[in-house]
Amino acid sequence: MHVVIVGGGIAGLTLAIALRRFGHTAAIYEQADELREAGAGLTVWPNACRVLFDLGLKDKLDAIAVEPPVQKIFHYRSGEELHAFERGTKMRADYGAPLYQMHRQDLHGTLIDAVREGDPASIHLSHRAVGIERTATGGRVVFANGAVAEGDLVVGCDGIRSSIRELVFGHEEPLFTNVIAYRAVVPAERLGDAFRADPTGIHLGPQSNFVHYFIRNRTAVNFLAFALVDTWEEEGWRIPATHDEVLARFGDYNAIVTDLIRAAPAEALFKWGLFDREVREIWSDGPFVLLGDAAHPMLPFLGQGAGMVIEDALILARAVTEKPDLRTALAAYQAARKPRANYALRTSREHGRYFNSHPDEGGSPGEALGHTLDLNDYDAMRVPI
Ligand code: FAD
Repeated sequence: MHVVIVGGGIAGLTLAIALRRFGHTAAIYEQADELREAGAGLTVWPNACRVLFDLGLKDKLDAIAVEPPVQKIFHYRSGEELHAFERGTKMRADYGAPLYQMHRQDLHGTLIDAVREGDPASIHLSHRAVGIERTATGGRVVFANGAVAEGDLVVGCDGIRSSIRELVFGHEEPLFTNVIAYRAVVPAERLGDAFRADPTGIHLGPQSNFVHYFIRNRTAVNFLAFALVDTWEEEGWRIPATHDEVLARFGDYNAIVTDLIRAAPAEALFKWGLFDREVREIWSDGPFVLLGDAAHPMLPFLGQGAGMVIEDALILARAVTEKPDLRTALAAYQAARKPRANYALRTSREHGRYFNSHPDEGGSPGEALGHTLDLNDYDAMRVPI
């Protein structure tokens, strides 16, 4: 089978690697002029690590990842430890794969290298999909630059504002969640010893929270700071933010947080609005199918958005290999993935409810944040489909 993949994010790249692994060919068409992953850190849970290991990327991931021994929940103001989750060897013992944290660019770069090792010419930049047509044997994509690509299957891996989704199913606006996120990558050398000894943590505050963890061999710290707002007009992942703006919202947090914000290089502070969508009822139409955020973008509070995308890729590659025809394959893919994407989406939203609460007023964040470990059992290579 020859597959046209629209979008060169984590979804499109993982899919290309998985398809090749099963003997298919794939070409990726990406609208950007260069392959560059926006965003900073990423948590890759055991369910997603297992897929990437199965795709032959274990050594590369081991080299770019940090494995946190523990993840802690803190009170935003006092810094008091509210809960601690053992990770590290416990995750490996429980799930047979690690929990890794890494720079998005490092994962993206690893996936790009793996795609190019398989076929150096398979990634086409500056190709923005603007049209689709059916052909006698599959589907065709038309790009803004006038180029055309044909395949037995066309996969929309083009993210939350997917053009393929819109072209196949019509326009549906993503839902703004009234949450915005600030982020930065801070060189560890800019931080004091207190921070360097501190583990990966989440500080729960009133209608806000602040997440931080080490990346790049503990030479840098990624932070994400989530806050509620009434409206949001701007688009994109790389909207510059200022220290004053972040401190205006997080200035009453404990010193670990405020020091980290102050230590962020000015040019490394960004913000963006968080959107999600309901998971689509139907994911495919003839030779066109959606995968990843194009089908089910979700809030980041579970840290499983990319995990779901990575699992999708392996299941779709398996389905088109194991099933007798495309129609059965796409039905099997959707049946396997929709309930899981729905569960992850709903649980992410549920975790977001901490934005409407105060850490001093009831509830046990520890329990709530711990119970979703059940997602980690999933073995995408072996689960029956
Ligand atoms: P994208 O990464 O959006 O890639 C889509 C690609 O398609 C882009 O390269 C885009 O340029 C291209 N494209 C778009 N339109 C077109 C077009 N018309 N033609 C051609 N190309 C096109 N997940 C985790 O597992 N762990 C985490 O810790 C985590 N943290 C997160 C933190 C935040 C704040 C957010 C917002 C998300 C987080 N996620 C996390 C979720 C994860 O980042 C996403 O689910 C994942 O990156 C989606 O990958 P994708 O390839 O489907 O989409």
